[in-house]
Amino acid sequence: MVDASDLVEFQRHLDGAHHIAITSHRSPDADAVGTSLALARYLRATGKEVTCLLPDAPDEALDWMPGVEDIVLFDRDPGKAQDALHRADVLFALDYNGLNRLGPMADAARTATGAWLMVDHHMGPEDFPTARVHDARCSSTAELLWGVIAGLGGKDAVDATSASLLYAGMMTDTGSFRFSSVSSETHRVIAEMMDRGLDHTAVHEAIFGEQSMDRMKLHAFAVVERMEVYPEFQTAFVHLTAEDMARFHYRAGYTEGLVNRALGVAGVKVAVFAKESTDRVKMSFRSVGDFSVRDFAEQHFDGGGHHNAAGGASTESIGVVMARLRGLLPEIAAGIQAAEAPKG
Ligand code: 5GP
Ligand code: MN
Repeated sequence: MVDASDLVEFQRHLDGAHHIAITSHRSPDADAVGTSLALARYLRATGKEVTCLLPDAPDEALDWMPGVEDIVLFDRDPGKAQDALHRADVLFALDYNGLNRLGPMADAARTATGAWLMVDHHMGPEDFPTARVHDARCSSTAELLWGVIAGLGGKDAVDATSASLLYAGMMTDTGSFRFSSVSSETHRVIAEMMDRGLDHTAVHEAIFGEQSMDRMKLHAFAVVERMEVYPEFQTAFVHLTAEDMARFHYRAGYTEGLVNRALGVAGVKVAVFAKESTDRVKMSFRSVGDFSVRDFAEQHFDGGGHHNAAGGASTESIGVVMARLRGLLPEIAAGIQAAEAPKG
């Protein structure tokens, strides 16, 4: 939920602002991109000059989002991104709460002189923003952002397009309204989106409806050749090397959902997906039940996120990372046992 007193600060900063930069995290998902574009539409309707910035390209499954082609990508156009960050009177941090989540864009963001405003739903926010709307129990940044826009008096600026952008973030961050983060408020916000002309079928189709043959083959390959299931530890791993990904003509977002294949194996309570990229190995962690993958990611892989869905990274080789994960199996199994033990 959004606290009215936080919005007083937001309004004060926005009143005096001309140039606004909207930033979100590396490997941006539908919540990151959808909220960036929806907020940009609202702010432009109030007469602001807005630039959306991302460290790298979104998943190709988000190509349908109106305005996605105008987002400045730091890895493609660092000069333009830097100019926008430094010119901004106000900078928004959406769907992340630590500047290291900006990856290569973090240094440029740290030297920005405008006021930072954060809207986020991850645990443990850093204190770089001047003001923030933060709720770790909220389903998505999109759900929070609706409260922000409504609280600032901007309900009428949310048209069917903005509604579809916000809905995309809510739908994907909740696993299509499956996760325990879904509340009655989540559904109230969706009702508001539907009243504004949301076509929810079209959004679901655009994101999950069809996929390229390359992506489908990459998933099949990963499951058949790269999945390791350890029933005695209730854990499964999947990894992909850079070579594997090149073989299937990898594009941004192709590996989305792979970690859930591992989690979906009968008896598995913790799943890890590890992917080799140029400068690091990026990991996704998922759990069902009380084992906190957020704590695990933070302790071992400099990461964070949510209790049942987290991420992390390592500069070690993929081979070393996988060996380290296998070595951690007893610790994971003990953690699952401890989390399941009756309390009190
Ligand atoms: P995903 O596995 O889908 O990339 O991320 C799962 C969750 O963990 C998301 O909420 C995401 O924001 C968070 N997350 C992913 N990678 C990192 C990371 O390197 N550091 C932190 N703090 N959070 C991450
Ligand atoms: Mn999110």
